[in-house]
Amino acid sequence: MPSPAPEPIHIEAERLSGLLDTIAARIGRAHVVTDPANLAPHLIEGRGLYRGATPALVRPGSTEEVAFAVAACAAAGVPFVPQGGNTGLVGGQMPFGALLISLSRLTRIRDLDPTDLTVTVEAGVTLAGVQEAAREAGCLFPLSIAAEGSCQIGGNLSTNAGGTAVLRYGNMRELALGLEVVLPDGRVWHGLSRLRKDNTGYDLKDLFIGAEGTLGIITAAVLRLFPAPRQRATALVGLDGPHAALRLFRRLRAVAGDALTGFEIMPRFGMEMVLKHMPGTVRALKGDHAFYVLAELTSTRDEDDLAAMVLAVLADAFEAAEVEDAVIAASEAQAGALWRLREDLSDAQKFEGGSIKHDVSVPVSKVADFIVEATRRCEAHMGGLRVCAFGHMGDGNVHFNLSQPVGMDKQAFIDTWEEFNRIVHDLVAALGGSISAEHGIGLLKKEELTLYKDPVALDVMAAVKAALDPQGLANPGKVLMGR
Ligand code: FAD
Repeated sequence: MPSPAPEPIHIEAERLSGLLDTIAARIGRAHVVTDPANLAPHLIEGRGLYRGATPALVRPGSTEEVAFAVAACAAAGVPFVPQGGNTGLVGGQMPFGALLISLSRLTRIRDLDPTDLTVTVEAGVTLAGVQEAAREAGCLFPLSIAAEGSCQIGGNLSTNAGGTAVLRYGNMRELALGLEVVLPDGRVWHGLSRLRKDNTGYDLKDLFIGAEGTLGIITAAVLRLFPAPRQRATALVGLDGPHAALRLFRRLRAVAGDALTGFEIMPRFGMEMVLKHMPGTVRALKGDHAFYVLAELTSTRDEDDLAAMVLAVLADAFEAAEVEDAVIAASEAQAGALWRLREDLSDAQKFEGGSIKHDVSVPVSKVADFIVEATRRCEAHMGGLRVCAFGHMGDGNVHFNLSQPVGMDKQAFIDTWEEFNRIVHDLVAALGGSISAEHGIGLLKKEELTLYKDPVALDVMAAVKAALDPQGLANPGKVLMGR
């Protein structure tokens, strides 16, 4: 397995109890949790790769209380790990002996301004909560991921989350205008700017976005909103492989421009897993296709005829023998059913035994070449391997997941993770891609990072970490080696 869990940090009993008493006196004893039953759900991450350990979970209720707890940790020299919804996929939110600081009580939407098209939210608001607040105001907050009911804005910012609408709206970095952050020494940076233009020196917010809690704790953010779309068209298309999917992408983008909001792909094996294991899912295309595209167009203009646009593109693609079959949703319910086929894929994979996952990106023009060549190399490496390459073709992000051969011992398969990392990540690097597209580095990929990241960039990252967190207390052991 990549990057194993570190030995837990030991904090002497006296220092720890002094720290917990100090924090409890400020935020309330009820919000300093030490009993194992209540800690347990915070110490297991979704993939079951890491099991954390912590002496206590503290749950501050405001920015000032977060700052107080962090300042107390700094004074006592005790490391801390921020945790949001605990849906992260690289182990970043797991403590290994450090104090766990939950943001779950910071749930206020401080302001929503439909003229500025901004919403100011605290870090513990769930992504679904922000989407809902935007909807109620007739706006759209476009970040959309399958974990949106549980993941929190602080976690989304700290992992620079992506999802299914990055093609049109960008990832979390592009959706944030300002931040409020508690630095590792307990000072608060008040950077809740709503400005689209602000050239007053270094862009500090971009340091904290994607830092996975290693540079401090995000307590609030100003996020961009958009006018709510008034119509959408959703299509599922069957085709003979990734190159045909890329051709369809080019055709759709040429006609639809920025109305093209999502362009997702999945292989036959992925579709079959969903239909077999996920109750309520329905086969939408009669035939059997090597590859599928789920495309979505949205528009704020009533006069656009999105369905006609999709039909025209598909007609041309049929004539050129580039697509095999297609269906366009005739209702919101049908669009939802098509999206379920794509969104249930991560869960469906769990039923097929061990899975080795790669969240990678390459330039959009190289996605099809990547999928074909990586599949060939991986299948040559292990007979019976079942490749499931799916994800966000429109922004170059492929989840290149490998399911174990039927009948193979699960652990024996997982033990080959490193071998597949080399095959997949070497190819990604050769194509000018990234070994982490949207999930981050956390613990899982920190050794991989040393192999593929520019050494000067790693030095600069280490210098930033040392400048902001000289004691190395903020989420220790994550992202950077030896920090
Ligand atoms: P956590 O898991 O609690 O933490 C993640 C990291 O952020 C940790 O390093 C933690 O220390 C740090 N952190 C958390 N809160 C703060 C804070 N306030 N300040 C500083 N650091 C903080 N991700 C995508 O990008 N795209 C997807 O499409 C996607 N789909 C997913 C589907 C499923 C079913 C699941 C389970 C996960 C998916 N993810 C996806 C991954 C995950 O949901 C995201 O990484 C999400 O942004 C994590 O948010 P969280 O609140 O759960 O953070």
